[in-house]
Amino acid sequence: AAPPAPAPIRQLPEAVVHRIAAGEVIQRPASALKEMLENSIDAGASRVSVTVKEGGLRLLQVADDGSGVARSDLPLLCVRHATSKLRAYEDLETIATLGFRGEALASISFVAHLSVTTMTRGAQHAWRASYQDGALLDPPGAKPCAGVPGTVLTVEDLFFNVPTRRKAFRAGGSEEGALILDLLQARVFGGGTRYAVWAAPRVGFTLRRQGESRADLATSPGASRLDVVRAIHGPDLAACLLPLAVSRGLEPTADLPADAPGGPHLRAEGFVTSLAWTGRRGALVLFINGRCVECGPLKRGAEAVYASLLPKGPKPWMFLDVALPPRQVEVNVHPTKREVGFLGQDEIVDAICRELEATLLAAMSSRTFATEA
Ligand code: ADP
Ligand code: MG
Repeated sequence: AAPPAPAPIRQLPEAVVHRIAAGEVIQRPASALKEMLENSIDAGASRVSVTVKEGGLRLLQVADDGSGVARSDLPLLCVRHATSKLRAYEDLETIATLGFRGEALASISFVAHLSVTTMTRGAQHAWRASYQDGALLDPPGAKPCAGVPGTVLTVEDLFFNVPTRRKAFRAGGSEEGALILDLLQARVFGGGTRYAVWAAPRVGFTLRRQGESRADLATSPGASRLDVVRAIHGPDLAACLLPLAVSRGLEPTADLPADAPGGPHLRAEGFVTSLAWTGRRGALVLFINGRCVECGPLKRGAEAVYASLLPKGPKPWMFLDVALPPRQVEVNVHPTKREVGFLGQDEIVDAICRELEATLLAAMSSRTFATEA
């Protein structure tokens, strides 16, 4: 049979385009929460409290004591590609904030009911405003109200207008709740992005299910990273952790000559389980320049170091906070920013793995020595 007559090409309505794009940035409650946590950290908060209901599908609320949003910026808060963090494309080379696309809150406002209460330091009162489809709802507009300095963002009924996505999540959202906990905890088991450990001692987090008096997670500002790991994962893991620190210059490249600002230089610090660790499952919690990311080559390299020292031993648990010159890191890889590219990856992985091996060997020989003595 002859092919049918072609369907006419039409321009999609803008709201449809935005709603489709929003689904790529915000895939589930945990991805909305990741964006909100990053905003609170970017705003210089030292306390961040998260409240969820039905795994974040019904309610996801993040309250911080950060900078707040100026009254005059409220109309722009959820406008797509509006950001306080990036001005020119070149700024991406040296960007120090976690956000820069001005896409997260806009995206959320296309797939949920979003409202904000915010107050800057020194202001007389707070402002409250609600958003839909990228715009401030006006009327009622921004209304003055009582408050404390900082920002409370409330996201309700996520995916209320995306029935297929909504249905994909189990009733009650228990699975999503577990993902959200994982996001904050850097748990031994499972993936996700993990902030409570990384942001210590600067930021304390509380995570609570609405209506519960007991928090699922509570860390206080000032607690060390090791304290946070101990509080979350218990003393057995904490007792097996060895500090790992790497600091060294790297081979200059054409992109990053030796005299480039920030040089080609690697700094990494964190904790790794010693060979005494017998836990069943492991994880690599990796932050590069403050971004929680994945790096297959580093994970495989580190696991190979453990396997060479203790064949068939348990998978290690590792937390690594890596700092590279911003120019060495390509952050603009993916909207969810899950992966970062960086220059000189092989050399960096190699440097970390060699230090890891030396750290494990030193701990092993001091232990042997202690037993013999
Ligand atoms: P981005 O973080 O990429 O700039 P977002 O959509 O996440 O984009 O946020 C848009 C803007 O809203 C930010 O640039 C920031 O100015 C402001 N903002 C969002 N959350 C907060 C917060 N918790 N405290 C202060 N300002 C915020
Ligand atoms: Mg952001």
